[in-house]
Amino acid sequence: MMHTAPAMLCQNQPRERFVHLPTPLEAAPRLSRDLGINLLIKREDLAGLCVGGNKSRLLEFALGSLRDTGVDTLIAYAAPQSNKLRDIAAVAARCGMKAVLLIPSEGGDDNTVLQGNRLLFDILGAEVRGVAADLNRAGILKAQEAARDGMVRQGRRPIILDRKLDYGIDATIAYVDAAEELLCQLAERQVTPHSVYIAVGAGMTAAGLALGLKHLGSTMRVVGVCISSPAEDMAPEIESHAARASRRLGLPTSLKASDLTLIDDQIGAGYGVLTPDLTATVHRFARLHGMVIDPVYNAKVAQALCEAAESGRIPKGETAVYVNTGGGPAIYDFSAALGGAA
Ligand SMILES: *Cc1c(COP(=O)(O)O)cnc(C)c1O
Repeated sequence: MMHTAPAMLCQNQPRERFVHLPTPLEAAPRLSRDLGINLLIKREDLAGLCVGGNKSRLLEFALGSLRDTGVDTLIAYAAPQSNKLRDIAAVAARCGMKAVLLIPSEGGDDNTVLQGNRLLFDILGAEVRGVAADLNRAGILKAQEAARDGMVRQGRRPIILDRKLDYGIDATIAYVDAAEELLCQLAERQVTPHSVYIAVGAGMTAAGLALGLKHLGSTMRVVGVCISSPAEDMAPEIESHAARASRRLGLPTSLKASDLTLIDDQIGAGYGVLTPDLTATVHRFARLHGMVIDPVYNAKVAQALCEAAESGRIPKGETAVYVNTGGGPAIYDFSAALGGAA
């Protein structure tokens, strides 16, 4: 019987500890029966900190690299229902820092609905500022730099947490670490899954998982389910995230986009748009497992997994892993679509 070994690939990385690891790898017997496969769920949504999720795991590394730097202010930009912003607010509270969160807003942030993650920003004590809704990547960086300069003038020591900066590498190595953790759990169960399904937003999480699994010689196929951008755009992004992470960790392994399967037929109407099919999948997972998945990321992954099981792309009786990356509070922003008996 193998033990859950301590994470080794990332052992030299500075790291704070505030999530509960390993996250559970749990069986889902009713869903498995319904899908005709053996489904295991990696519950990143139960990682702790505030409400769990992949951002909680990565912030252990992001905060670790800030140790002894005197940084006291975390600045980031994302959507009003962002899980990243929520966890930055939570980690700032945990570590006694200030969080300055920039969100796109048409004419001031008064008009954002105080619900889901946006409500949690306030409860967690973050400073929330609206910025122009139509910024491109360069504009987003500029807005964050302006916020940083303002904080410096107030005598604070701010840092910007943006995927183009160190934060992007931290996000990727966190899932190299998760890959190792998952392989330990699978070895304990003596099961070799056919595939593992995970969301692709900006692609750091899937890149880290695929890089870690490749480096450790796993044969399990990573299926990355693109949430908002097409696979042809995400492939080079994923390769670049993985390359930065390999360099940081000193790994000889380089990840090619062809090492994983990227699918983009779940993008549907785009980021954060809930279709009737996705609603049905959220209900299906809730009613067959008591697990409430978020409509923005995980409903699309679940939908892809259901279609793969039902079409035989995951052969009957095979094991597949579904990584639940969190994001649950977003459901409260979708009450009209998700509520009512169906
Ligand atoms: C951010 C996020 C993702 C996507 O992570 P990327 O590294 O950007 O691909 C997936 N699921 C949830 C719940 C998230 O908040």
